[in-house]
Amino acid sequence: MIETGDMEFESRAVAPEYTEADNETEFTLRPQTLQEYIGQDKVKENLAIYIEAAKRRGEPLDHVLLYGPPGLGKTTLAGIIAHEMGANLRITTGPAIEKPGDLAALLTNLSANDVLFIDEIHRLSRAIEEILYPALEDNALDIVIGKGPSARSIRVDLEKFTLVGATTRAGQLTSPLRDRFGIVQRLELYTHEQLSDIIRRSSNILGIPCTADGALEIAKRSRGTPRIANRLLKRVRDFAEVMGNGEITADIASIALNRLEIDSLGLDSLDKRMLTMLIKGYNGGPAGLETLASAIGEEAVTLEDVCEPFLMQLGFLARTPRGRVATNLAYAHLGFTKNDDEDDGQLTL
Ligand code: ADP
Repeated sequence: MIETGDMEFESRAVAPEYTEADNETEFTLRPQTLQEYIGQDKVKENLAIYIEAAKRRGEPLDHVLLYGPPGLGKTTLAGIIAHEMGANLRITTGPAIEKPGDLAALLTNLSANDVLFIDEIHRLSRAIEEILYPALEDNALDIVIGKGPSARSIRVDLEKFTLVGATTRAGQLTSPLRDRFGIVQRLELYTHEQLSDIIRRSSNILGIPCTADGALEIAKRSRGTPRIANRLLKRVRDFAEVMGNGEITADIASIALNRLEIDSLGLDSLDKRMLTMLIKGYNGGPAGLETLASAIGEEAVTLEDVCEPFLMQLGFLARTPRGRVATNLAYAHLGFTKNDDEDDGQLTL
């Protein structure tokens, strides 16, 4: 029998989604310029060229689609684009735009060159997407007045603007919408060195003393994600203040993160539950994502968006046409041996 502990997703220190606890520092820590933005070199280089070219032509930047796992800096980049273009930023999300009128109101209120950021753009309804198409292509809004045979459509001109769309799942975007973005950039998980730089930058801004080794220790356990790195930095600070002289060292970081049940590679209990279920419940796989998710009582999207990119980057999980497979590295890290017949299957997660 496999028992899985119920764990509130919100309470995970390594959940990459934005939570209320990030609120106090989210804005102070956000880089304002491309130069301050650490890592994602290819994306930065490309954007720098596109921004410079648009500025020289005196036009708004072409529409930009940013995709990649949560917490990697998509909203931050939208702010940087607006800042570098000398434009205003308007922020909304796909699920917040419920009715066509909501989007029409947003679009008609834009000033020339504004940057409109729509997070989770894959969650826009089809009807709303249709309104977006002429806005993106012709800077116009087609409004239908009346119903039935007497209905007629009038076209309203909009100011020229830049849409920055963000999504964790580019595959779910309809192709007509995807095709309307001139610039499509994928954000990658960050390396330990880049995360260390982000942590040191944040610790400077927040006035938290932190050694290079301390920053690296936090970086190693941050799942390649700046939002998690910043959150762990704040949690480790508490330990440094109570257990030491306030400075974050590698030792203090290690003790604090162990207490938070984040292991040496950044895996938390949800990652471990997923891998353990795959290994013990399905003999290492292949197992379907939905099957795995319901076996551990988690949402499939959470596993797919949050656990999988990181576990695949670590080389712990492979996606095959027949389902998910745990690799030898995952067996070794979790201390399992393959085809362990003597095991009685008793396991508490
Ligand atoms: P996303 O929109 O992809 O979920 P955000 O843009 O909200 O992610 O980034 C989360 C936090 O991580 C931001 O508040 C910012 O402080 C930090 N951050 C993200 N990317 C970077 C970066 N490249 N350099 C420094 N800090 C970053």
